Amino acid sequence: MAQIIIKNVRKEFGDFTAVKESSFTIEDGEFFMLLGPSGCGKTTTLRMIAGLELPTSGEIYLDGEEISQRPPSQRDIAFVFQMFALYPHMNVYKNLSYPLVSQGMARAAVRAKVDEVAQILGIENILKKPVGGLSGGDRQRVALGRAIVRDPKAFMMDEPLGALDAEFRERMAEELRALHDRMGATTVYVTHDQLEAMQMGDKIVVMNNAVVEQFGTPQEIYDKPATMFVADFIGSPSMNFLPFEGAVAEGAQTVDLTGNSLSVPRQKQGASGKLVFGVRPEHVSLSDSGNYRGEVLASEYLGTTQIITLDTANGELKARVPASQTATVGETVGLSFQGDVVTLFDAATGRALRSELNEGIVAHG
Ligand code: ATP
Repeated sequence: MAQIIIKNVRKEFGDFTAVKESSFTIEDGEFFMLLGPSGCGKTTTLRMIAGLELPTSGEIYLDGEEISQRPPSQRDIAFVFQMFALYPHMNVYKNLSYPLVSQGMARAAVRAKVDEVAQILGIENILKKPVGGLSGGDRQRVALGRAIVRDPKAFMMDEPLGALDAEFRERMAEELRALHDRMGATTVYVTHDQLEAMQMGDKIVVMNNAVVEQFGTPQEIYDKPATMFVADFIGSPSMNFLPFEGAVAEGAQTVDLTGNSLSVPRQKQGASGKLVFGVRPEHVSLSDSGNYRGEVLASEYLGTTQIITLDTANGELKARVPASQTATVGETVGLSFQGDVVTLFDAATGRALRSELNEGIVAHG
């Protein structure tokens, strides 16, 4: 059982800063995702939790105890590597028992533990096989087993499914999540795949350029993005950004977008200048009426829905509408937006303006 607190953690490599002051809490038993594009600092963050890197400043707590400067061996945290480091010449049983034998555990206890873990992972029937000849999925299970046998307080996983093909990846993701639900061990999981993070995570930290942009549940991150980066990174197609110049008063429930008054959640913060109207494609609908209009540029059929690309006075916009709706390229249609889930951003800072929708959402950085 483990709660992990990251407090103002920073990591420098020479004069390069890989992680700027980051703070978030991983609650006991959570499946916690570190999400962001390549090079944003997520692996470095994970390695600092495991003790494979030491923070330049800041603190890390495991169950209330500060562990920031402790070596990995004194943290009781298991690290599952992407390139699962198994011993290819040994059989599965030996691979699983090795960490326990090297700890000096008695033979009978080792056997009992390996049997228990093999059962959890459903690999009892391959214990005698050499790992060299195993399928990717079984290797993955053995690698996990290697981490599980030690009964660590928490698991760190760095893109553990990264090397697998798409179909297999999905199956292993489900298996991993089910395994986590059975075991309930705190798991921190690095991925650059927003869909994987949304599907598997209890909580997500979104990182960009060494900074934590937002941290929350998948729903919070999706519905109430704290920054334009988060809004853009999560969701496919991503949120539409319609830039406009104007002003919005505190308490306002509409905004003027090139002469059209559009509904927005009641604003808790006034702003003026270069602003951005952010709306997800599924919150845009096409109608015959409506003053805000767009010309249909293209449509992409997706089975039950279609993505319509339109040209508007504020730039290009995508709408996700039922596949049955007709939209002809070249025609001009009315557009309406679901106002209660619109987010306004300050174009200069990229931050969401505070409103009734995103109240309480914490933007970091
Ligand atoms: P990826 O998915 O590509 O691994 P990431 O978000 O996990 O990306 P990190 O591996 O944490 O990113 O790396 C963040 C930045 O820190 C990168 O620019 C990387 O080159 C740099 N970095 C990481 N480790 C070191 C190191 N030991 N020395 C110098 N720079 C490093």
